[in-house]
Amino acid sequence: MNIFAVIVAAGSGERFGGRPKQLAPLCGSPMLAWSIKRLGDRRNITGLVCVVPPGGGETIRAGLDGFGADDIDAWPEGGETRQHSVRNGLAALPPEATHVLIHDAARPCVTERLISRLTDALRTHHAVVPVTPAVDTLVHTEAGVVDRVVDRSHIAGVQTPQAFELALIRRAHDAALESGASASDDGSLVLALGEKLATVEGERMNIKVTYPEDMAIAGAILTQETRE
Ligand code: C5P
Repeated sequence: MNIFAVIVAAGSGERFGGRPKQLAPLCGSPMLAWSIKRLGDRRNITGLVCVVPPGGGETIRAGLDGFGADDIDAWPEGGETRQHSVRNGLAALPPEATHVLIHDAARPCVTERLISRLTDALRTHHAVVPVTPAVDTLVHTEAGVVDRVVDRSHIAGVQTPQAFELALIRRAHDAALESGASASDDGSLVLALGEKLATVEGERMNIKVTYPEDMAIAGAILTQETRE
């Protein structure tokens, strides 16, 4: 296995107040630097590709100077949607890559433990996603009222990184492009092919920074972890 990682960091930060959050300071480093460090520190990950906003590559590279920019092998530009950005990231992988971890820059609290669980699972599975069980009561709403309660016993939240055999995830993205299907993550595209999607235990602390107030939570998690 020759595992590479693709970090997608080409979002515009619409729900983050319209400013790109990739370089927002988080415990002394730009947010994106945390994902680069944790993926880059794993000995079984051969190289890293970072997908940057169209026209914004120089800003990101400059912002990461001294914070892991040297660990990045390629800086392809992203597209209009996350799916486009992942596609461009996959296209930038070198020919020797056989497997890939796809990770959102918006999840800076990814741990080396989770990365190891995923790379271990790649020995026996072609596609693996981390999941956390739903803890809230889940309901379906219509026009502002609850019309039914969803049985949460089989419901889980899906995180990144997600791990794939490279040929499979490329096939899944090609099929989606052809059919016009869109999905908010890559595992969904594998499932749409009718292929098996395995799970490993995700981590409750691996939060997705979406709104400005999530930065305080991510900061608290990282401060706690670096103390441990
Ligand atoms: O927008 P959202 O929070 O779902 O984005 C998840 C991840 O996908 C983020 O790391 C963001 O930078 C990335 N993204 C991207 N290209 C886009 C949209 C989102 O790389 N066009």
